Amino acid sequence: MQSLLANIPAVDQILKTKPIDKLLAIHSSALVKKIVQTETSVLRQAILAGTCQSISQEALITTICEKIQKQSACSFKTVINATGTVLHTNLGRANLSRYIANEVFNIAQHASTLEYNLETGQRGSRYEHVEDLLCQLTNAEAALVVNNNAAAVLLALSTIGQGKEFVISRGELVEIGGSFRIPDIIELSGGRLKEVGTTNKTHAADYEKGISEQTRAILKVHTSNYKVVGFTETVDYKTLAKIARKYDLPLVNDLGSGLLLNMEKYGFPPEPTVQEIVQYCDVVTFSGDKLLGGPQAGIIVGKKEAIQAMKNHPLTRALRVDKMTIMALTGTLKCYLDEGTVLERIPTLQKLTCSKETLHQKAECLLQELATLSLPMEFTKTEESAKVGGGAYPEVELPSVQICVKSKVLSASELEQRLRVATTPIIVRVKNDAIYLDLRTIEDEELALITEQFREL
Ligand SMILES: *Cc1c(COP(=O)(O)O)cnc(C)c1O
Repeated sequence: MQSLLANIPAVDQILKTKPIDKLLAIHSSALVKKIVQTETSVLRQAILAGTCQSISQEALITTICEKIQKQSACSFKTVINATGTVLHTNLGRANLSRYIANEVFNIAQHASTLEYNLETGQRGSRYEHVEDLLCQLTNAEAALVVNNNAAAVLLALSTIGQGKEFVISRGELVEIGGSFRIPDIIELSGGRLKEVGTTNKTHAADYEKGISEQTRAILKVHTSNYKVVGFTETVDYKTLAKIARKYDLPLVNDLGSGLLLNMEKYGFPPEPTVQEIVQYCDVVTFSGDKLLGGPQAGIIVGKKEAIQAMKNHPLTRALRVDKMTIMALTGTLKCYLDEGTVLERIPTLQKLTCSKETLHQKAECLLQELATLSLPMEFTKTEESAKVGGGAYPEVELPSVQICVKSKVLSASELEQRLRVATTPIIVRVKNDAIYLDLRTIEDEELALITEQFREL
């Protein structure tokens, strides 16, 4: 036993051994040293306990290398979204274009005019950079941006509600996900819920009946992540605006996704744009990273007085966005100034409107590349539908093209798992004991990367 113990290499010696000497240069030396110490101590304990009869230096080095790789790996990394869900919330929703990402990269690295006015040399406002653009694009009087749409709704209700009632249709008591439910947010904001109508039908008269001395606002929530079908009725914006004006109440609208572009001409069902809705409402809130295709943000547009009250609310400071968000949002909004090029400049819109012919071409390219690998797998092209995701257009089936992969040696779930832990993870759909790579959500420059990951398998 003594001789075995004496054979454990010294920590300093291990640190000089290949390839640990190289890892020392890449990773934190404190981390590497600590792992080496821990592993030699584990070995010593095993010898003393009599569970280790011989020492393999090679095995020790391998274990140490594995531990170093594992501990220094970051779980937050880029992946390839091959799921066919364009706005995949778990995969980070909208992607920025390379051009906008570069601008964000730049602003993150340097000092900026975030809250500095170059003309006066005085303090400026971080919101000014986006407010003008938002007003120009939506025809709203004023605008404000916060952390996400959930924050925007909370801020709007907190500013307006305070101990008074929000009149809302029973068909719009929405849960958005996680613990974000409209009735809870109303309570959190200090307001009270006044439900009117029924789950499937709410009439104008229901709103009028619900309005009293206690009412502070009419709240409309866009039922973006589900559809009530069949015997249904809702009150349109125009009528709601009339009621709001009659009783001198603000009309607040949680729009959810927030379209700036009419998507009907690209084959999507009718869905009102922000600029259409803002004419009827005092406050409209929507997300930055859903159909808009920008960074995570909560955008609030509407009447000057209402927005000013929100700007003055102490919550605004707690919900404020950082410089990278402001740059990403400004860059995204600028793309909308030119309708002729907006589809190609915003990756989300590009993916949503990409033609089936283009998807077939991409699939053919990928099939050819994959065929050169001579893997024990069968690759075929399929035409199933893709999804918008992010709680937008829940009923829309986007025509799409996939590569269906069946392995001759691995089950579909084994293959899915291998791709999930690849150097660049590929997230796929599994169905009928095969995996599917959906071309609608795969970016052009990811095609070569996909081939690379299959080669590694
Ligand atoms: C998605 C959504 C939200 C939440 O937006 P986030 O930006 O994810 O916080 C709120 N309301 C509606 C109607 C939504 O669709």
